[in-house]
Amino acid sequence: MKLQDESIGDLFDTGLFIDGTWVRSSSGDTRDCLNPADGSVVATVDEAAPEDATRAIAAARGAFDEGTWPRTPVAERTALLATIADLLERDKEKLARIETLDTGKTLAESRIDIDDVVSVCRYYARLAAIESDRLVDVGRPDVISRVVHEPIGVCVLIAPWNYPLLQISWKIAPALAAGCTMVVKPSEVTPLSTIAFVKLIEEAGVPRGVVNLVQGSGAVLGSALTDTPDVDFISFTGGLVTGRVILETAAKHVTKVAVELGGKNPHIVFADADGDDSVDQVLTGVFLHSGQVCSAGTRLIIEDSIADRFVAALAARAEKIRMGDGLDPASRTGPLVSMAHREKIERYVALGVSEGAELVTGGSRPPNPELERGSFYLPTIFDRCDRNMRIVREETFGPILTVERFTTEAEALRLGNDTEYGLAAGVRTADGARGERMVRGLRHGTVWLNDFGYYTAAAEWGGYKRSGNGRELGPAGLSEYQEIKHIWHNTAPTAAGWFDND
Ligand code: NAD
Repeated sequence: MKLQDESIGDLFDTGLFIDGTWVRSSSGDTRDCLNPADGSVVATVDEAAPEDATRAIAAARGAFDEGTWPRTPVAERTALLATIADLLERDKEKLARIETLDTGKTLAESRIDIDDVVSVCRYYARLAAIESDRLVDVGRPDVISRVVHEPIGVCVLIAPWNYPLLQISWKIAPALAAGCTMVVKPSEVTPLSTIAFVKLIEEAGVPRGVVNLVQGSGAVLGSALTDTPDVDFISFTGGLVTGRVILETAAKHVTKVAVELGGKNPHIVFADADGDDSVDQVLTGVFLHSGQVCSAGTRLIIEDSIADRFVAALAARAEKIRMGDGLDPASRTGPLVSMAHREKIERYVALGVSEGAELVTGGSRPPNPELERGSFYLPTIFDRCDRNMRIVREETFGPILTVERFTTEAEALRLGNDTEYGLAAGVRTADGARGERMVRGLRHGTVWLNDFGYYTAAAEWGGYKRSGNGRELGPAGLSEYQEIKHIWHNTAPTAAGWFDND
């Protein structure tokens, strides 16, 4: 692996991690990871071939079927997670730097991500430690009936590029806590922090074969990772189209799959919540990380009576967002993840204009010459949108806000639910009863009332409808990695006595 920035070098080893050893890709292929802020090569990493993925699954299978990890006492498993959390804290600054160089997000955001990864590891260490088997009263003194949790087996963990370390930690931490073995596949666009994370997991003393890492193209590695009877569970976070392919492939083997997919998230503002704080929350909800957030509030649904003033205030704030290299402390937002992704955003903006939406601000690359080499794009607002427009219905995954107006609460709720997705929604109102009606009526996995964007390791995260079918975080995020077994133990065995043949 070549590295542009030597200050992060000690967090790396060569290429792929298979069966407890860092190895080269069997094809010899490599991939350049680019800094989205200026297009420079941050690192050149090994690119796994399908045979590497197959070897990684075999290693995880061996570690599960014959290794010690699934049978290791929970106290030891959770101690390993606590050690991983300590190492993450020790290397927080380096990891944050890696994340910023690879994704373009600001260092402040990357630091928050690392803190959250630490919380997730500590949360699952605690949760697994207190989880206990359940005794069931079957009404017979001779029978002990128990329900026990066991690790589900070999897991394939596939992550996207927008929150590389955070998203993969939501999978690795509960998988380790549950006693599973795994093959980790980060996005080929942003693999660096995951490589460094696996290096820390190795340093923490994970047994051989429990955690394996193959970075490379999803299209190339996809079938080796998912079209196999040797995998027991696939946890995927990414786009709807990829999620569907994985579900279809895994169905052949009846492999359990959890998919966390996209969102087209409404942020509903009633007139009684008008004010600068609401403007600020809507602005942050959509433009944080340049809109590359699955739960970004990309649809402003606003009461007509305040819409003109609110949108004007929003545009004025959007125009002042300081955009720049994520390593520069003055930057409040960075570039899009790649030039290819910016081209996708540009196609959506052209589509919005052709669909008749009113472009209020943005709609182009920034004019600043110092940003020319990066994949930057201005925060963009479209007013006068309606539900039939593709920019309102499709996830653009960039800094584009669409504005729809309503006059009644019923209309606001109908619009908020009028999406094939159901990941997250926000409601802003000063009327408590209305707030409660709205949060209960919205069919989304997370709903914020008078706030936006927050989550916690202890509460489940996931989507309704086409935003997915699983849950991460919280107790359900651990259950995904467990099988449930009922053990019926007769302590005074007798004949069944059903077939009376005398
Ligand atoms: P993507 O679907 O293109 O890729 C996600 C991952 O899947 C990558 O690692 C990719 O290499 C891999 N992949 C691609 N084809 C594959 C195949 N055939 N088989 C197996 N793996 C394959 O998504 P992306 O562009 O990396 O991420 C953006 C998407 O992720 C957005 O839709 C966003 O909403 C979603 N997302 C959802 C959540 C959530 O919590 N629901 C969180 C973050 C991102």
